[in-house]
Amino acid sequence: MEIKTNYALKRLTTFQINAFAACYARFDSEDEILDFLNRNPLDGQRHLVLGGGSNILFVDDFDGIVLHPLLKGIDVVEADRQHLRVRAMAGENWDDLVAFAVANGWGGIENLSLIPGSVGASAVQNIGAYGVEVNAVIDRVEAISIDDCKKVFFSPKNCGFGYRFSNFKGPWAGQFIITAVVFKLSRQPEFVLDYPGVKAAVGKMGPMNLDNVRQAIVSIRQTKLPDPAMIGNAGSFFKNPGLDDRTLRLERQACR
Ligand SMILES: Cc1cc2nc3c(=O)[nH]c(=O)nc-3n(C[C@H](O)[C@H](O)[C@H](O)COP(=O)(O)OP(=O)(O)OC[C@H]3O[C@@H](n4cnc5c(N)ncnc54)[C@H](O)[C@@H]3O)c2cc1C
Repeated sequence: MEIKTNYALKRLTTFQINAFAACYARFDSEDEILDFLNRNPLDGQRHLVLGGGSNILFVDDFDGIVLHPLLKGIDVVEADRQHLRVRAMAGENWDDLVAFAVANGWGGIENLSLIPGSVGASAVQNIGAYGVEVNAVIDRVEAISIDDCKKVFFSPKNCGFGYRFSNFKGPWAGQFIITAVVFKLSRQPEFVLDYPGVKAAVGKMGPMNLDNVRQAIVSIRQTKLPDPAMIGNAGSFFKNPGLDDRTLRLERQACR
């Protein structure tokens, strides 16, 4: 655990804005979070949970406490012939988890390759790309309730997942620190290739397999999106408009 006052946030967000937090607390385990909150109840104090800082723009100094869970670890907690339940701690880098899953032959998140950020925030944001949203493979979200310092578990149904939305960024905003997410991955991946351009890009990589799908997605993203390490940015500032199935089909036909 590390607790600092007047802490520079610049290197903790992809925009790299020169902002300072009045207080900053970094945690490496669930026990550290529980211990800290038990000793220092926030009692309504302004606070912000920070992940990889790839979807946060500080426009000024932050006059509250930044809580930064950097918990690490990826474990298989259950497995049968078809599926595995993989528990990843919130501070793991999202794309490292995708790479790990692909390298092991576990399908379900390969289309979400190269999305910046942390595992914890993936559930907050219900990240999505190239025809897949992470809630399709989330089995459980583990969190600590900030007000009463209790460990809580959420089923996907309770999380209120929607398009780039969950209860964690809606009605429950600021109430929980997500500590781990359990994903249900598949040993017999079903590839999702209907997003325009994906199938052709995979074809250029070689046979249809997890690794080639990942490489295709990475290569599409690299031609389209600025690398936050080179140019400070925080991804999209807008949501795509919702289209009904018929309009979506027509749009896709027009793109071919
Ligand atoms: C170049 C670029 C491309 C991107 N492409 C995509 C894309 O294709 N699809 C997509 O969905 N997103 C995309 N994003 C947005 C971003 O990657 C996601 O929103 C990502 O989930 C943010 O993760 P983070 O760890 O950086 O979260 P942060 O920016 O640190 O935080 C985001 C929100 O989650 C909360 N939060 C973070 N961690 C926790 C936690 N452990 N517990 C509780 N709350 C928490 C924060 O308080 C904040 O409200 C892109 C961003 C960039 C810069």
